[in-house]
Parts: sequence; C-alpha cells; structure tokens
Amino acid sequence: MNEYDSTRILDLTKKINYVPTTNLSEANCYILNTCHIREKATDKVYHDIGRIKKNFRNKIKPIILVAGCVAQAEGEILLKKEKYIDAVIGPQSYHKINEMILNLEKKSKSENFTEFDVIEKFDTLNSLKNSDSNISSFLTVQEGCDKFCKFCVVPYTRGPEFSRTIKELTKEANQLAENGAKEIILLGQNVNAYNNKKKRLSDLIFEISKIKNLKRIRYSTSHPLDFSEDLIEAHKNFKKLMPVIHLPVQSGSNKILDAMNRKHTINEYLELIEKLKNAKPNIKFSSDFIIGYPGETDEDYQQTVKLMKNIEFIHSYSFIFSARPGTPAFGLKKVDQKISKERLINFQSIAERIKTNYRKTLINKIIPVLFENKIKNENKYFGRDEYFNSVVVQSDNNLSGKIINVRILKSNQNTLYGKFISKLNYENFAA
Ligand code: SAM
Ligand code: SF4
Repeated sequence: MNEYDSTRILDLTKKINYVPTTNLSEANCYILNTCHIREKATDKVYHDIGRIKKNFRNKIKPIILVAGCVAQAEGEILLKKEKYIDAVIGPQSYHKINEMILNLEKKSKSENFTEFDVIEKFDTLNSLKNSDSNISSFLTVQEGCDKFCKFCVVPYTRGPEFSRTIKELTKEANQLAENGAKEIILLGQNVNAYNNKKKRLSDLIFEISKIKNLKRIRYSTSHPLDFSEDLIEAHKNFKKLMPVIHLPVQSGSNKILDAMNRKHTINEYLELIEKLKNAKPNIKFSSDFIIGYPGETDEDYQQTVKLMKNIEFIHSYSFIFSARPGTPAFGLKKVDQKISKERLINFQSIAERIKTNYRKTLINKIIPVLFENKIKNENKYFGRDEYFNSVVVQSDNNLSGKIINVRILKSNQNTLYGKFISKLNYENFAA
C-alpha cells in the first residue's frame, strides 16, 4: 500500500512542478514514506536522515518530509528529536502534501499533518489521473481496520475501515489499463472487508474484469472473517481472478488466536480453505505468521508448524512478535527471545522446504507468464505466473505486457527459469 501511496504522492506533487529524481544528492525535497508494522521502522528513518545530512553537508538543506504510518504514530517525537525533519504527514492526510511543501518553501516551520481525512484524501486523489504505468499495478480499494488484533498498529495508524466507491475505482482501473497495466492488484488492509453501499469485493471484481485489456486481477490482504460466499463464488466465475489467495492466519493455536483477538478458530480457517478449494480446485494459499506471540508455548508453536505442513502454503511471511507501543499486546510478557528465534528459524526452514518441493513440481510444466519488465543490462525478461511466482526467460524481443506460455527448466529459492515452448510467436499464446 505504501507503494500505491508513493505513486499517488508523485501524482500530487507533479501539480507543483516537483518531479522524481534518481540523483539523490541533488534532490531538493525528500519524502520518506514509512511503515510502522514492526519495530526498527523509526530507527530506519533516523538512519536515512543521517545519510541525507551527510550528502548535504556543504549544500542547501533539502525539504525533509516523513510520510506514512511512522509519521502518524510518532510524528511529534520525530519532529522533536530530529530537527532536520521539516514536517510529518500521516497516511490519511497526504493529499495536503502540496500545501505543506509550498509552506515549507516559504518558511522553515515544522508541521504536523496527521488528521484522518480519508474521504477528503480520496476526493483529491480522484481528481488526478493515476500515472502508474507498471504492467502489474496496485489499486487501493479499502483502507483501515476495525478488527483490533492485539498486536497491530493498523487501526491506530490507518484509522477505521473505509471503502472507495465502485465508480471511482472502475475509473482508476481504466486509467491504469490505459497506462498499460495488464494486471491489477486490489489492495486493502482487509481488502475483503470492502463494502461500499452494500457493494462487496466480488461486485468490484466483476466490474473491473470487464476491462478488455486487463488480463489478471489479484487482491490482498484478506482476513478470514471477511470471506463471504459471493467472494468464494467469484473464484469459480471470474477467469481473470488469479488462483492464489493471501490469507494470513498468524498462528495454528486456538489459544493464541484467541489471545490475539483474531475472532476465529483454526477449524473455521480450515473450513474456509476447503470451501475455496471446492470452488476452485487449483487454488493455492499464502499466509502471514507471528512467531513467539506472548503466551506461545512449544505446543502452540507445534500447532503452527502442523498447520503449515497441512496447508502447504506456497509463500509465507513469518516474523517474531514485535511489541508495538500503543497496542494492547505491548506490555505483555514476552516469550524468551532465544526461544522465539529458534522457533522462527525452524519454522522458516519448514516453510522453505515446502516451497522448494512445490517448485520442483513446476519443473517441465508449461505455464502462462505475464511479463513485466526487462532485467537491467541483460537480455532477460521478468514476469509472474498465475501463482505470483517470479519467472525469468531469455529473450531478444520485448515481452513486457505479454502473456506467454513458458516451460519451466529450473528453479532457485526465489525465481523460476524457463524457455518458450515454441519459436517466439507470442501473440499466439497471449491470453
Ligand atoms: N489485515 C491482515 C490480516 O489481519 O490478516 C494483515 C495486515 S497486517 C498490516 C500485515 C501482517 O503484519 C500481519 O498479517 C502480521 O503477520 C504482521 N504484523 C502485524 N503486527 C505485527 C507485530 N506486532 N509483530 C509481528 N508481526 C506483525
Ligand atoms: Fe492489523 Fe489485520 Fe488485525 Fe486489522 S485485522 S488489526 S490490519 S492484523
């Protein structure tokens, strides 16, 4: 979502003639768009500012803005501790960024814009064309969260759940397709909680799937509680909807799920997976896990391992519990860090083994790949298969934006390598 926000910030700042640069030591304004989900985010801000300071030691100081959830959660502290920062701007206030920059051009007063103006924000963004020209583009459809898992900062940094209208989203999706997008990834902290005047995510997918040039639709991140029957049906009905769902579970233990306030049990999660498999037999899953949540015993941890082995998630993100200030879990007694680390290493090696075995099954298979871009300085193209696996092939022809059938030859941890199944005649293979 920060990537989506960063693109929109660029769209906004173009209005006051700011353009992006890769020449970092010449920039006259820096916007650090930050994430606050785990510790170290704030340290990273100080670290980055240290580097900017060094670059600008003998030059005029650039304008420094800290945007995103660190600004929302710790804006005042940042402004007090690091005088080099001119202003902080939260994720629901960034539509005011031009006003802020223009003020800072005139005077050097520090500012703090961290109100929750989500309606006003999207009203402003809707009036600007989305300039993202990636083959696979993000589109934020829903923001915020009302679930209040005990470990999580999102309800405090992004605010309550808010869904944009189908009309404005269809308009923006059309813009992205006109810019060249062949795939759109619908985003939300709980994207399947999408609800605008009773229109649900499945209605939105239905509308967006009518866009002719758009070939693939994905959505992330889903919450198990918000998986309504219509969305399950959508996987049966919409060919453009890709057959992999990111469905965070966090833990395999009912006791820990309850302590986290996840509001569902493991059985309910497994039932949902079964329903989705019945609707779409080739569907696969990825997930998020928190290891070493306060109170996690070895038995709880083993249940998480059991779940991983049972579902065989094809991608997973696992982190040790990070105590976030302001959340209910902040003060809880932590699991010994050494034990948490051991569990995480063990868990990730099991997840990796499962992933490797899955990837071995792809060798020699012929799979459709949507190519996104050329790899710098090489005659190779990068793309993704339907399951979001990275695929690289050699090609002298421009493949960007094409869907081509590829035979997978080999795989390493993160990438599949393949070749075309016949002479390059990709129009024949385009989906
Ligand atoms: N809303 C989605 C859900 O609940 O399924 C997840 C969105 S959350 C922004 C992304 C992931 O960050 C979570 O699934 C969780 O695994 C991880 N996360 C959030 N807070 C965390 C914390 N305090 N410590 C470790 N991981 C955390
Ligand atoms: Fe955070 Fe997701 Fe829980 Fe909301 S549902 S509080 S975003 S982990």
